[in-house]
Amino acid sequence: MEKLISCCGLNCATCDARTATINNDDNLRKATAEKWKAAFNAPDMPYQSINCTGCREEGVKFSYCQLCEIRSCVKSRGHETCGDCAEMGTCEKVAMVHKHAPEAIANLRSLN
Ligand code: SF4
Ligand code: SF4
Repeated sequence: MEKLISCCGLNCATCDARTATINNDDNLRKATAEKWKAAFNAPDMPYQSINCTGCREEGVKFSYCQLCEIRSCVKSRGHETCGDCAEMGTCEKVAMVHKHAPEAIANLRSLN
């Protein structure tokens, strides 16, 4: 379960992309693509691209998460998550996420 907390602290267990992937649910893929087209200003996002098993889980990753600079940074430093990093309190990369999803900080603290 704790592996479903992503590198930045988001909870992949509650992510619609993961739920759609696990259940192979095309209706949820389509609904998620519609939401994310607007959220990410990505009008060409096909619903077939909504596939992800979770940031720190084995398996397929959504393209944005595959390319995520926070995830890359965590891996390059040998951490499990940003919660292991002494720079988390001053890091601008992860601050962007925590500004919009403050629960992610609590999720990271719950791991340590
Ligand atoms: S890594 Fe995958 S499951 Fe986690 S938030 Fe990103 S898209 Fe959702
Ligand atoms: S520098 Fe920032 S993004 Fe990288 S591991 Fe530390 S807190 Fe996370």
